[in-house]
Parts: sequence; structure tokens; C-alpha cells
Amino acid sequence: MQNKILIVEDNENNRCLFRDILTFHGYEVAVASDGQEGVTLARKLMPDLILMDIQMPGMDGMTASAILKGDPATSGLKIIALTSFAMQGDREKFLAAGFYGYLSKPIRTRELPGLVKQWLEVEPV
Ligand SMILES: [Mg+2]
Repeated sequence: MQNKILIVEDNENNRCLFRDILTFHGYEVAVASDGQEGVTLARKLMPDLILMDIQMPGMDGMTASAILKGDPATSGLKIIALTSFAMQGDREKFLAAGFYGYLSKPIRTRELPGLVKQWLEVEPV
């Protein structure tokens, strides 16, 4: 069975790049360009993994994630924070906010499939 991945990212280049890489690696990929669309698609598709950009116009990734985490129907979804403002302590901040993982941009495209595979396999503690 194909794993479903939802990419929520406002930057079109990134969105297409991530989609192409993950599609190439056999995943079923859906994309959203802001937090609101991301929440709607997450509820509809119940993806195995969500890659959620943090900085987006309209509804940002923190808000979208908080909505999904606060809803019992979607609270179990694995959400990875994508952020371009990599700073010391950020990772801990995002994990504390309920994100399953953290990835800082620019993403190493060769590493992305391996990371996604790991996130899909590892069960939450
Ligand atoms: Mg962004």
C-alpha cells in the first residue's frame, strides 16, 4: 500500500520539488499552499505524514498544526515542521508544540526520502 503524504508549503518551487521527489520514490502525494487548505486536505485524506511549512501567508503552519492536534479526529497525524529560520533550540520548540519531527530548509533533496521513510516507520513514543 502506498503511503500518503501531504505537503503544505506556500513556496511553489519547494512545493513542486518535494512533490516530485516523493512521487518519484513511490509515495502518493497531495499538496496545499497554505494552512487552511492544509487542514482541509488533512481531514479529507488522513495522510500518513504531513510536511508542514511554518511560514506561510494566511494561516501559518503553527496554527494549522495546532488545529489538527486539537481535533481528536486528526490529533494522531504525524506532522513535520519545515522551517527556514534554523536556530538553536528551534527543534525542541517544535517538538514541544506537538510536531513529530523537524526539518530546516533548504532541504537536502538526497536525504529527504530517507527521512520520510524513517518518520513513516518510527512509532510515536
Ligand atoms: Mg513558507
